[in-house]
Amino acid sequence: DPTKLQDWQIAEEAEKSMKSVHRLASEWGILDNELLPYGHHLGKVDYAAVLDRLKERPDGKYIDVTAITPTPLGEGKSTTTIGLVQGLAKRNDKVSGAIRQPSGGPTFNIKGSAAGGGLSQCIPLTPFSLGLTGDIDSVTNAHNLAMVSLTARLQHEATNNDEFLAKRNLRRLNIDPTNVPMRWVIDFCAQSLRDIIIGLGGKNDGYMMRSGFAISVSSEVMAILAIFTSLRDLRERIGRIVVAYDRQGNPITTHDLEVDGAMTAWLVRASNPNLLQTTEGQPVMVHAGPFANIAVGQSSIVADRVALKLSDYHVTESGFGADIGFEKFWNIKCRVSGLRPNCAVIVATVRALKMHGGGPKVVPGKPLDVTYTQSDPALVERGLANLLAHIETVKVSGINPVVCINNFHTDSDEEIAVIKDAVENAGARAAVSRHWLLGGEGALELADAVIDACEEKNDFRLLYEDALSLRARIEKIATEVYGAAGVSYTPEARTKAEAIEADISKSNFATCMVKTHLSLSHDPTLKGRPSGWTLPIRDILVYNGAGFIVPVAGDIKLMPGTSSDPAFRRIDVDVETGKVKGLF
Ligand code: ADP
Repeated sequence: DPTKLQDWQIAEEAEKSMKSVHRLASEWGILDNELLPYGHHLGKVDYAAVLDRLKERPDGKYIDVTAITPTPLGEGKSTTTIGLVQGLAKRNDKVSGAIRQPSGGPTFNIKGSAAGGGLSQCIPLTPFSLGLTGDIDSVTNAHNLAMVSLTARLQHEATNNDEFLAKRNLRRLNIDPTNVPMRWVIDFCAQSLRDIIIGLGGKNDGYMMRSGFAISVSSEVMAILAIFTSLRDLRERIGRIVVAYDRQGNPITTHDLEVDGAMTAWLVRASNPNLLQTTEGQPVMVHAGPFANIAVGQSSIVADRVALKLSDYHVTESGFGADIGFEKFWNIKCRVSGLRPNCAVIVATVRALKMHGGGPKVVPGKPLDVTYTQSDPALVERGLANLLAHIETVKVSGINPVVCINNFHTDSDEEIAVIKDAVENAGARAAVSRHWLLGGEGALELADAVIDACEEKNDFRLLYEDALSLRARIEKIATEVYGAAGVSYTPEARTKAEAIEADISKSNFATCMVKTHLSLSHDPTLKGRPSGWTLPIRDILVYNGAGFIVPVAGDIKLMPGTSSDPAFRRIDVDVETGKVKGLF
């Protein structure tokens, strides 16, 4: 009974009967030589071998899971992704899911590990939560190697003459130490490393300069891991990353620093997706983990491609609400992969709708106000505008969504009925799902609605064509997806936008917005469906390797902070058995 047990206790119970990775892979159609096992219960999949072998096979149905604007607790997207896979598996043998790998920062801080919850979880939980097969470590190393190459080069150019450099076949790059957009990365929320001075030792201890750290999952290397389509593509994107600028303002790339090959070498193993399972034994791909508010927010393209070849139904999750997670799935991930979804699921909860209706602030780590556990259909009704906005957004993509009402055991029938009626009036499908409480058995209504929706012919189309200019794209996303009245730019952002629009080498770059996930607007305190507001673009970043132009709306930190009551206080190891407890 998940109302009485912690998630890690449920996971531990399910792990007693989980499949070996060999059985999991072979039942899914992966050959022995395509599986790279890591211990008994998880492994990596040689995506290139599978895709080559099955290139003629048609893809299965492709389903994206997104959500309404969440409370800071999350509304159960990962839980629903896993629950839907379990429910679909009651109707069809070949079903799979894909979720992102959790970052160490949130896992040890407030949010927990994002393996799902209750009877719908991805297992084994401990390796899932604690670094898995090391992909984020590889991203961290590859990224930091670029910074090592830069800082070493700065020192050697500063302390040696041209003759010395020429002997080593080095051209003087004239790096401007005050114009280094790249930071170091670490996969924790380490606020004290945001802004630092490095190189404080002597002549041989590096070059003294201002620097800082971002969280690993915000790295451009992580973005590339999510969207690369082949090893060649990965190698080329890594080589185009801009690390710094020279004193004339010209970009200096990883290729100029001759570090791109070595960075890619760090990523070869990480480029293969990881294979885990649901608590009911269906395959789950876990690969790449960029956040959706400050990054692309999707699991990898290669994981989805492999799964679509092996499954009749493949469910993938995109981060946060449909305004940012689904928008990036739709206009970035699908644009790069060429894949077309058959269905999108919007996860809604009574608690989030109550928050949008004006309920008290939801604070992670603090007990929920009774408003959220006592029946109040009128409050739910006042919050519906947020759900309707997300339904409209998904419809703009040409897909009629399925709304999953992720049922909490405290929800009343009257509250559920309010949501169902509104969804049906908006012309979308609604399904109540109890996967958290019951596993796949509880997700049959949702599974059937999704199967039904997949049979419908949809008219999926990108929001904008490649040819549309940057500012016109931002305007389209702001007005048609976020519901803004318009867009404003700081002078700095406007100058950058003009330069980017004039540079044809960047005309096919994807537009990857940075915006809070806690509101449809840029202001996290504005709940519901704000109207009459203007989206302020403060800055525009260019991720030359990933091929992203990143307009920044509002103040978003690339390095979150650790709170005063982080999850690590409750995580421990049983020293008799070696088992980890307290993860969630
Ligand atoms: P998201 O992916 O949207 O951030 P998660 O799936 O990680 O959300 O769920 C957030 C938290 O809410 C998890 O701790 C999960 O166990 C819990 N949760 C999700 N669905 C339910 C539910 N129906 N009843 C109770 N708790 C739930």
